[in-house]
Amino acid sequence: MTQITSDLDEILHLMTRLTGDEKHSVAATSTLDVLHVLYEDVLDVSPDRLDDPDRDRFYLSKGHGPMAYYAVLAAHGYFPREWLDEFGTYESPLGFHPDRTLVPGVEISSGSLGHGLPLAVGTAHALRIRRSPARVVVLVGDAELDEGSNAEAIEYAAGVGLANFTVVAIDNNSSSYAVRGRMAARFATNGWHTTTVDGRDHGQLRAALRHREPHALVAVVAQVEDK
Ligand SMILES: [Mg+2]
Repeated sequence: MTQITSDLDEILHLMTRLTGDEKHSVAATSTLDVLHVLYEDVLDVSPDRLDDPDRDRFYLSKGHGPMAYYAVLAAHGYFPREWLDEFGTYESPLGFHPDRTLVPGVEISSGSLGHGLPLAVGTAHALRIRRSPARVVVLVGDAELDEGSNAEAIEYAAGVGLANFTVVAIDNNSSSYAVRGRMAARFATNGWHTTTVDGRDHGQLRAALRHREPHALVAVVAQVEDK
């Protein structure tokens, strides 16, 4: 636990190097603990295996507010920490939304909401056809689950029996429609293995995100402070 705390402190320190008007700090910090636990303890990925076809796939669907994402990737050696100092400038690879063609370790370009989950479902389908052991993990915001594309993806993924797949939804009570708690029910009613955890509790996050279902999809609702 000491190790984790000190690493999180390091990431928080790296985040202070990202400055400017477009840093979306509320959105950025809501994902901080989930991203930290994923890269520290869950994902089978590393900077020297960027093209490994059997690497785990992590898709950050909630592409706005990428500060925590950039800080975690820098802490894990995906790109030089000095890049953080130029965040959002014209020449910087680190834009206000992550670009997969510019930032090592970024699997999808995101920012336009509602696309990450459907893309991840397609990827999981392809990996299954190839009999790859790779897992797919996608991080979504609660408000982007208002987008209809997600409703189709949630039903489709269950309908075709995908597995090795986890969606983690950061719930900061910013959805337009949902009564709190209804989000988890949407996954559960479609047959997903669903848990709700404290999005700041590393032990709860680690257990929920490491949990694998051989024959079912996993949804983790990570509750954080209201936006
Ligand atoms: Mg939200």
